[in-house]
Amino acid sequence: MQIGLRIDVDTFRGTKYGVPALCRLLADHSVSASFFFSVGPDNMGRHLWRLIRPRFFLKMLRTKASSLYGWDILFRGTLWPGPVIGRKLGYIIRSVSDAGHEAGLHAWDHHGWQANIERMKGDAIFHSLDRGVALLTDILGRQPTCSAVPAWKCNDLVLLEKAKFPFGYNSDCRGEEIFYPLVRGKALPQPQIPVTLPTYDEVIGHNGISDANYNEYILSLMRPEKLNVLTVHAEVEGIICLAMFDRFLGMAQSTGAEFVPLKDLLTAEQRIRRSAVAAKEIPGREGWVSCQEVEE
Ligand SMILES: [Zn+2]
Repeated sequence: MQIGLRIDVDTFRGTKYGVPALCRLLADHSVSASFFFSVGPDNMGRHLWRLIRPRFFLKMLRTKASSLYGWDILFRGTLWPGPVIGRKLGYIIRSVSDAGHEAGLHAWDHHGWQANIERMKGDAIFHSLDRGVALLTDILGRQPTCSAVPAWKCNDLVLLEKAKFPFGYNSDCRGEEIFYPLVRGKALPQPQIPVTLPTYDEVIGHNGISDANYNEYILSLMRPEKLNVLTVHAEVEGIICLAMFDRFLGMAQSTGAEFVPLKDLLTAEQRIRRSAVAAKEIPGREGWVSCQEVEE
């Protein structure tokens, strides 16, 4: 069984501490993965305003957000402009690619994307993607070949703007199988590799799931005959949940599972169907996420 392993990097702290720790861990387990980097300003502290929203506040308590992200992250960007991650920590991003992992674009401004994407027009979306691609190209010495929007917040405009970049694939939504996105009845040429499994913050604290049984729970969701794509976060599995993620990799590998970068899930002989992408609510996550519309 193959498991596509996607690592999202949202913040300065995640890049500085989580990414090197995950690289060491992946090397110990002889695993290659796909990293998606946020390279522009770290304004994640602007999330703090959401504290006034009760559902988000409960989630913060449930997932111990302050220990997951650190108080510095919660305040970052609220009082002063956040640091441009790719300018300060480009050497770390480059080292991931040099170690043989796939490196793609997550965001220019992760928080800005999450907060504004519903109101952004095509040219603003293009500009945001273009700034991210330009800085990542500078860092890597070549263009990134894949991308994944922050927080699974994608829409038809985003899909159309992404098609202007030379991405081999994108991973912008939740779903069940690799597909070509349908926009206004037309299939776009860049395949989508959807995430099939929930993230840590979505399931922890619900239905009796705790750190004691989290790994077993995620493994129970794997389907050998189907697409399996797991997202972990540099801020979570790379820092506070690092030891647990170490055990997870060992447990999965002992059952014969092989972790691969997402690009390895695309094979020449597979038949890729077409699907639309729609905004939906999913358990454990605030607001909407983009989901593959799977035909019955
Ligand atoms: Zn993210």
